[in-house]
Amino acid sequence: MLSSAKTKQPQSWGRYPKVQHCQVLPVYWRSDLPDLSSLELPVLPYAYGRSYGDSCLNEGGVSLDVSRLRRFISFDEEKGLLRCEAGVSLAEILEVIVPRGWFLPVSPGTRFVSVGGAIANDIHGKNHHRAGTFGCHVTCFELLRSNGERFVCSPNEHSELFHATIGGLGLTGVILWAEFHLKPIVNPYIDVDHIRFSSLDEFFEISVESDKDYEYTVSWADILIGGENLCRGIFTRGNHNQSKALASKHQKKRLPLALPFNFPIFALNTLTVKAFNELYYHAQLSKRVHKVVPYDPFFYPLDSIHNWYRMYGKRGFLQYQFVVPFENAREAMKEILGRIRRSGEGSFLTVLKQFGNIQSPGMLSFPRPGLTLALDFAYGGQKTLQLLDELDKIVLQSCGAVYPAKDARMSAESFQAFFPKWKEFAQYVDPHFSSSFWRRVTAARTQSQALVAF
Ligand SMILES: Cc1cc2nc3c(=O)[nH]c(=O)nc-3n(C[C@H](O)[C@H](O)[C@H](O)COP(=O)(O)OP(=O)(O)OC[C@H]3O[C@@H](n4cnc5c(N)ncnc54)[C@H](O)[C@@H]3O)c2cc1C
Repeated sequence: MLSSAKTKQPQSWGRYPKVQHCQVLPVYWRSDLPDLSSLELPVLPYAYGRSYGDSCLNEGGVSLDVSRLRRFISFDEEKGLLRCEAGVSLAEILEVIVPRGWFLPVSPGTRFVSVGGAIANDIHGKNHHRAGTFGCHVTCFELLRSNGERFVCSPNEHSELFHATIGGLGLTGVILWAEFHLKPIVNPYIDVDHIRFSSLDEFFEISVESDKDYEYTVSWADILIGGENLCRGIFTRGNHNQSKALASKHQKKRLPLALPFNFPIFALNTLTVKAFNELYYHAQLSKRVHKVVPYDPFFYPLDSIHNWYRMYGKRGFLQYQFVVPFENAREAMKEILGRIRRSGEGSFLTVLKQFGNIQSPGMLSFPRPGLTLALDFAYGGQKTLQLLDELDKIVLQSCGAVYPAKDARMSAESFQAFFPKWKEFAQYVDPHFSSSFWRRVTAARTQSQALVAF
């Protein structure tokens, strides 16, 4: 049965905003679930808090800790079909499937996310141009609503709830378990090319050429160079290695490092970011480097530093990820990068990628065809918030969108323009569910808001 616990307050990865929940309730068993309708405060599932902003937070409400729903249910090794509870992490799944010749259909930049979180944010990975989002590979899941009803949802059964829950930000109910397709691999290694590019136009050229032949593409970008080139960086592309001989090669376990303290805020500024960019850009001596590497440093380089959010200091940081359609991308990048340079705010981790045109299955899914850029800004108060508001305006004018999983501040007006299906989606929000994010981006006073006010 559900029990109240003096658990730590849930936090998001960016450590901004810091909010208090009235109650943190862990759930242990699928068979013994609480009567959510009897809770007087609005509820939100919470797994590993790898969302950056406030979409996984529920200030003043109940945070339902679903990370203990952690059991595997079935694995069809012939078909590569896995069914597990929603709190199982992608890291745990990889441990089981990789030695058996299977891989995740889609993986984000960290393996420490749950299956429920992967569905609720309809996450994307380096293979978006080939595989679409995580939701594209989900065959079915079971959803618990606050009135105790349980629905097994699939593209054919309760399909509206299926499409609302994928990318549904945890607001349609609790995903108890899910089933999804895996991808066959020959061995755990990746053939990788790193290619230096010196302008946005060159990035586009390499991207178009690589998306045809490479399953995974992503770039690190230095956006502080200014001038007509707009940015420079290292383009990374990879395919699963096909050698049977490597199948049994032992992979060394890497122990994660930990940052022992929060960095002081002055450690991060345009000068330190410029110095870092210069070093990183030139660390690769030739224009193109080819390597065969184990899958984990390729997919999860950041997982090697356990709590890297500390780099941004005590006040936390904001991640900003947007997508703009290709036809507006160059102009939007010119304006956005110019605005960032003038602000004096620096982003260490800047990731550039082209999304493909595979339709995302969720009503509120973020990925759509176009150029996507993800940036990190240390939280510097009003000036950071003002900068991001200005970036929103450019994204809006360019017909793009900002990613809710990484947001902590977008206005209701911006959200509703970025996600025009939000009203249709709102019909499927469970009346006892809400989040800090949802209350901010919807003007409508829902039953959940009334509960919070109460
Ligand atoms: C280093 C790093 C790299 C990342 N890279 C990427 C990337 O490449 N692509 C990308 O798309 N995202 C990326 N992310 C974001 C991350 O993948 C998502 O935010 C993911 O949803 C986090 O999952 P979680 O299990 O931590 O869930 P949480 O952050 O705890 O929750 C996320 C959402 O899922 C809901 N939820 C969780 N469990 C359930 C459940 N059982 N039932 C219903 N709702 C549930 C929550 O209510 C919340 O709305 C990255 C994050 C980090 C920290």
